[in-house]
Amino acid sequence: MIYLDYAANTPVDKEVLDLYYETTLKNYGNPNSNHKLGKMANDLIKKSTENIAKNLNVLPEEIIYTSGATESNNLVIQGICERYKNYGKHIILSSLEHNSITAPATIMHESGFEIDLIPINKEGIVDLEKLKNMIRDDTILVSVCAVDSEIGLKEPIEEIGKFLKDYPNTYFHTDATQAIGKVNIDYSNVDLITIAPHKFYGIGGIGILVKKKKVSLKPIIYGGKSTTIFRSGTPVLANIVSTDKALDKALNNLKSRYEYVLKLYNKIIEHLSQYNFIHINNTKNSIPFTINFSIKGIKALDIAKYLEKKDIYVSTKTSCCPLETPSKLVYALTKDKSLATSSVRVSLSHLTTDEEISLFLNVIDEMIKELKQNGKI
Ligand code: PLP
Repeated sequence: MIYLDYAANTPVDKEVLDLYYETTLKNYGNPNSNHKLGKMANDLIKKSTENIAKNLNVLPEEIIYTSGATESNNLVIQGICERYKNYGKHIILSSLEHNSITAPATIMHESGFEIDLIPINKEGIVDLEKLKNMIRDDTILVSVCAVDSEIGLKEPIEEIGKFLKDYPNTYFHTDATQAIGKVNIDYSNVDLITIAPHKFYGIGGIGILVKKKKVSLKPIIYGGKSTTIFRSGTPVLANIVSTDKALDKALNNLKSRYEYVLKLYNKIIEHLSQYNFIHINNTKNSIPFTINFSIKGIKALDIAKYLEKKDIYVSTKTSCCPLETPSKLVYALTKDKSLATSSVRVSLSHLTTDEEISLFLNVIDEMIKELKQNGKI
């Protein structure tokens, strides 16, 4: 089996899972209970939250635990819109956002908000000049992903953050789901950051939303006490301590993982580039963890199915989109519907071996031979 879908989900790290298991077995006191066991659990949450905050260069009280990136993104879009609707009803998104941003934004649009999309240039970068012209007095939120989910385009978060500092009524959110543990970004001028541990070898079922102190939010989940007033529900201790461990490991190993994956990326790109009918959708701004290519006239799903028969697992686009529709992101970049219909995402990890890549490329060669024999290319 060759797994090349790490942008969709990563296998949990053994140390992280062991810690999760031990913590769950040993600490079953509710962190909100007023007895010794509850206080012990609460202390462990505080300790992990402090370390997570230190690693992210934010304050512990700026960390909100959620169920995943989808909830964090919903909390940003709905929470900011509902909280600040008396100040303005205009929000700006990049055209590379994940469905968990665009779907709640559509709901907000239905309730009277205006949404504008910042176009991207040929290199897949949001056009800062256009953003400057789009900002209005009533713009309450700008949301631009740090790295997109399909092409791995790294956006100029630092630059956008610096520019938006002059607009104190406009909050800046970045969905960093595909960035954390892969690339170093300075988030100091970002007001809200979405993070999902299952993308960096943590466990599933937990997300983080960093919300800087100056920002307020209307919660989307109400109920009992939690670690913050912005998201109710008993905090899950094991989720939090294992996230702390996963983040520590991801950040400590970031450089070596990046350099290793870059070699695999170059090997794949070099190999695919020998075929003039394969279009590499990545640009020089893509991070090496994600390779996106199209073979015009061949449906992405057919390529993915061919690979699956050989026990190789890739995605046709972000796993949360309907299978048969063209990729919105590849279309936003290329403005070419046939490229968007045939785009395949291969995503890599430090766990991917060179041998796996050689086998994958052999299968690609075989597939191309068959497509040629059948007159499809
Ligand atoms: N945002 C981005 C950029 C993603 O890539 C994903 C998942 O692929 C999500 C949000 C949703 O993440 P989750 O499954 O944790 O809700």
